[in-house]
Order: sequence, then structure tokens, then C-alpha cells
Amino acid sequence: MALTLSQRSAHYTASPIRELLKLTDQPGMISLAGGLPAPESFPVQALRAACIDVLDTQAQGALQYGPSEGIAPLREWVAAQLRAQGVAAQADEVLITSGSQQGLDLVGRVLIDPGSTVLVERPTYLGALQAFAPYGPCFADLDDDAQGALPTLNAPAHRDARMVYLQPNFRNPTGQTLTAARRAQWAQALRGRPIALVEDNPYGDLWFDGPPPVPLAAQLPGQSILLGTFSKMLSPGLRLGYVHAPPEVIAKLTLARQAADLQTSSLTQRLVLKVLEGGLLDAQLPRIRALYRSQRDAMLAALERHMPSCVRWETPQGGMFIWLSLPEGADATALLPLALQRKVVYVPGTAFYAAGTAPRNTLRLSYATATPEQIDTAIAHLGDVFSQNQTHPHHDPSVLAA
Ligand code: PMP
Repeated sequence: MALTLSQRSAHYTASPIRELLKLTDQPGMISLAGGLPAPESFPVQALRAACIDVLDTQAQGALQYGPSEGIAPLREWVAAQLRAQGVAAQADEVLITSGSQQGLDLVGRVLIDPGSTVLVERPTYLGALQAFAPYGPCFADLDDDAQGALPTLNAPAHRDARMVYLQPNFRNPTGQTLTAARRAQWAQALRGRPIALVEDNPYGDLWFDGPPPVPLAAQLPGQSILLGTFSKMLSPGLRLGYVHAPPEVIAKLTLARQAADLQTSSLTQRLVLKVLEGGLLDAQLPRIRALYRSQRDAMLAALERHMPSCVRWETPQGGMFIWLSLPEGADATALLPLALQRKVVYVPGTAFYAAGTAPRNTLRLSYATATPEQIDTAIAHLGDVFSQNQTHPHHDPSVLAA
């Protein structure tokens, strides 16, 4: 008997990236597809020690239900971090979430009505599109220049926007950063309009040469919703993130999360607070910045070595991704089966576009997980595939039905 599912459930569709990640289990496959943190970056010993300490000294709290907003000292820690970055944050404006992905879903629930216009970068984070889509938004793409997305709020398609979703730092998937000047233009354009800025910042701490400009939220108090996460600096398996927003928005987000999952794990919050208070980040952040920087350098060097001259890319100043543009007419989705035959996986760029037509000649590479040797091998294979198929891409869409 076929059961009747909600209309909303039709919006929950398979992520091409999650489908691709299933392929990476095959022996010998080198994945440049997922944005998975490098396993050697996980602070295993510190977490192990903190786990024992928390269970020895505060098991009652760690194993009990707790407040939906999150435990007070962790909210205070997050607020202090944000203040250090120039954002006027108080602990009661912070909601602890189960990863920033939950924050995106809650924002969708609380801000989006069917038909609401939501402005997004082009391309943008696929997981945000997936989180927002079930609430029925009308996505409108923002154009880009070398400084990042353009604040074209007077364009006819943007005029009635309810919210704008931006990743100012080392954007997933392009690695691009919004310049300080462009942030100021955005702040000026948004100020006083009834449009929420949703600023997603999972990668801001993973900078290579120097920190990115201050968060846009610093310039838009009372109008911005800032999302952060411990996934990239500590471990994504912890599922710990946060939202900073005006108190009345936090109140609604909290009620929405109560309906969803009551609270984030009490044990995980105490565990993470313990390592943070122990000063782990003082050593951890420089360590992972150096690690990802050397991985990025390995990929840039490999691209220089192996790519035909018609392939283009930018140098990311932080984060985990390099965005490749193949020549006009090439199709990164159609070429993926050839890459898979060589045991290399990447994500075709079409996955990251909301509205309009997606260019078919782009793709995302992650340098976060593979070793420098694997990166060189994988890029050499991709260089071969792209050199041999510059004008006559091989069409076999069946492999990537997702
Ligand atoms: N936002 C962006 C831009 C991301 O790339 C990710 C992770 N891939 C997330 C949010 C969600 O991360 P998490 O839920 O682990 O905090």
C-alpha cells in the first residue's frame, strides 16, 4: 500500500554529493569530492581526556536533559569569541545547535514562507539550498565580480527579498572571500531594509595568510543571523554548532528546535566546553591552518603541473575548496564517469546552483582529505581526462542520475 507523504517531502531530494561519497568507499578511489576534515586533524587525545574528566566530575549534568538553548557557559564562550571578532554578541543571543546544518534548517523554518524571495550566491552551498527548499522559497541568484556577490537589492528580482544567505569567508564551493569593501557595501545596502542577513561561517578560522575581514554581522546588529560550527576546527562527528541572532529570533529558533530535537547533546556540549576552556584551540588552529595550507599548496602545484592551459582556477586564501572552470562547451558531469574509471571523484559544479541555468563546465575539488601524494596522482588523472576531452565531452548522464 502506498502511503501518502506530505507535499513538503517532495522537496527532500538526494544530494549528489552524498551519492558520490558512497563511491569513495571503493578500493583505490581518491576522493576530492567531500569536504571532510582531514582525520589527522581530530584532537583525539584532548577529547579523550575531556571525556573522562567530564564523566568523572559532572556526569549528572552530562547525562541529563539540558536547556534547549544550550548550556550557559558554552553560550557565553561563543558570545565572547564573536565579540573578539567585532560582533556585539551576548550569551542570550546564542543558540547552540547540532551542527550549523541544523541552524540552516531552523532559519528556514522561522524565516521562510512559501514564495518568500531568498537571495543566494551563485554558486552556493548545496546543503543550504536543501535546508531551505522544503519551506518553499523562491531562490534568486546574486551576480558576482572579483570582490564577491553584488548587493543588487534594487534589481526587480531582488526587491522583495526576505533574506540573503551569504558565506563571506572561503565560500563552499568556490573558495572565494567577500572583500572588506564589498562587505561594507552589503551592510549599507541592507541597513534599514526588512531583509535578514544569514551569514554562514564554517570556514572563517581556516585561513592561511591572515584572518578574513570582520564578519558582516558586526556591521548589521539586530539584522543578522550568524552561523558557526565546531565541525571544521574540532570534528564534524561531534555535531556542534551555533546561531547568533537578535533575541526575538533566537526565541523562535529555540521553540523550533524544541519541536525537532529538544536540545543538543549535553555530553557533547560539556566535552567541547572542557577542551575549549583548556585552551586546545591555541594549538589546534595553527596546526590545522598549516595542514590545510600545505594541502592547498600541493593541489595548486599539481594543477600547474598537470592541467591543460584551457582549465582555470583561483587560489583560495583559506577553507577547503578549489573551483575549476573547464573551457566553454565542456561538461563536468559528463566527464565524471571518465574520472571514476581513473578512480578519482569530484563534484560537478551544477550541484551548487539554485536558480537560473547552471554552467556545465565547472567543478569543485576538495584538498582537505587526500594526502599530497594522492592529490598529485588524482590531479594527474584529471589532467589527462580534461586534456583528452576538451571539445567532445563523453555523454553518459546515467552515472550521475542524482
Ligand atoms: N555551511 C557550509 C557552508 C558548509 O560547508 C557546511 C558543511 N559542509 C555546513 C554549513 C554544515 O556543517 P555542520 O553542520 O557540520 O556544522
